[in-house]
Amino acid sequence: MKHIHCLKCVKCGREYALDEVMYVCRDCGLDGTLDVIYDMNLVAVRLLRHIKTSNTVREPLSIRRYADLLPIQDERLLPPLHIGWTPLYDCHELGRKICHNSQTAYPPRLFIKDDGRNPTASLKDRASALAIVKARELGKTIITCASTGNAASSLAGLAASVGISTVIFVPETAPKAKVAQLLMYGARVLMVKGTYDQAYDLCLQASDTWGWYNRNSGYNPYLGEGKKTAALEICEQLGWKAPDKVFVAVGDGCIFGGVWKGFCDLYDLGLIDKRPQMIGVQAEGASPLADAFISGTAVQPQRKLHTIADSISVGQPRDALKALRAARHSQGALMTVTDDEILDAMRLLARNTGIFAEPAGATAFAGFQRMIQTGAMGEAESVVVMVTGNGLKDIDTAIRAAGNPTIIEPDFHDVERALCDDYPAK
Ligand SMILES: *Cc1c(COP(=O)(O)O)cnc(C)c1O
Ligand SMILES: [Zn+2]
Repeated sequence: MKHIHCLKCVKCGREYALDEVMYVCRDCGLDGTLDVIYDMNLVAVRLLRHIKTSNTVREPLSIRRYADLLPIQDERLLPPLHIGWTPLYDCHELGRKICHNSQTAYPPRLFIKDDGRNPTASLKDRASALAIVKARELGKTIITCASTGNAASSLAGLAASVGISTVIFVPETAPKAKVAQLLMYGARVLMVKGTYDQAYDLCLQASDTWGWYNRNSGYNPYLGEGKKTAALEICEQLGWKAPDKVFVAVGDGCIFGGVWKGFCDLYDLGLIDKRPQMIGVQAEGASPLADAFISGTAVQPQRKLHTIADSISVGQPRDALKALRAARHSQGALMTVTDDEILDAMRLLARNTGIFAEPAGATAFAGFQRMIQTGAMGEAESVVVMVTGNGLKDIDTAIRAAGNPTIIEPDFHDVERALCDDYPAK
């Protein structure tokens, strides 16, 4: 792969050739996650030829359009499903409304990127696509991963599309819909009576024991490269401009770090002239990264977790260094929101934009709202809020947020009784 210069350890800076190492730095172990470093001169020639040759947006409208800026040799190894190029909605009106309600001065120009619109309904498809390519390059026929739910259902779905088998470790708290996806896609599912962090460790051991390809966040250097395609799209959708701030929900920190890498790559290529501030949002009951950022100390694993946002219920974040780097280098921040704020964000999003997000999917929006309320938003900023997963993945929490329907007998008197207070007769 000529366009890749090396894999570089985030912790010690050691550089590896692509075929020298598979997952993490040999010296630093699990802390030594790797960055994919490109030869930007070569990328520039290829990428510009592909995507900036005319004013109209050219096909393919999926992550395939950025293949020149991905660690893949043969695009044909990508799964056939349509991944990425999700909509970036103009939600300025909603931005103004929230400002008005909180009586703060500066309404932002708000855009929402709906990544629930991927084949398995979460942003994780961007990363799984890369795992599929790598497994196929290596001739692996089995891939494993541990997941709170979405990484697993994504991997299982994409693997099914190319005839690869999957062995999946999920905590027993995974929402039912995500487990249903796994089983429907034909994965071998081991449900761990424990936490995501415990499932993760078991999965590492299993992949060592059987030699399966491992799609675990943080551990696998290529996943963040898949996730960065969201940043590439945001800039292209804004006419090759970077927004001022980007809000992302954070569990392991892989999306957050990956999206920041996307902006950095485009900046290095000269395709954007500045990079956004990255705002990572965690749930208050699972916040080791925000705590480390705010206190300026090393990450302390958090044993007791409590949040409705299962996808970010992570006590031992596996991509900690990249996540902290993204917040610091971008002059951004990591912050927390409460579960009540997440439930409120789910309702507000659905009722004002028609976007139905799962709890973690609405967490970035909750962070955005909190930042408006505390008056920390600058004047006329352009803001992108990422919605990372679809609301149908966790309907129990959705109903908790939205309430129950009115139950009636099949009798029109019941209809009148139920509606007369709210709807005066004509
Ligand atoms: C995985 C996930 C996240 C968090 O991503 P990390 O890379 O673990 O930080 C956020 N939202 C949803 C819906 C997810 O599935
Ligand atoms: Zn290292």
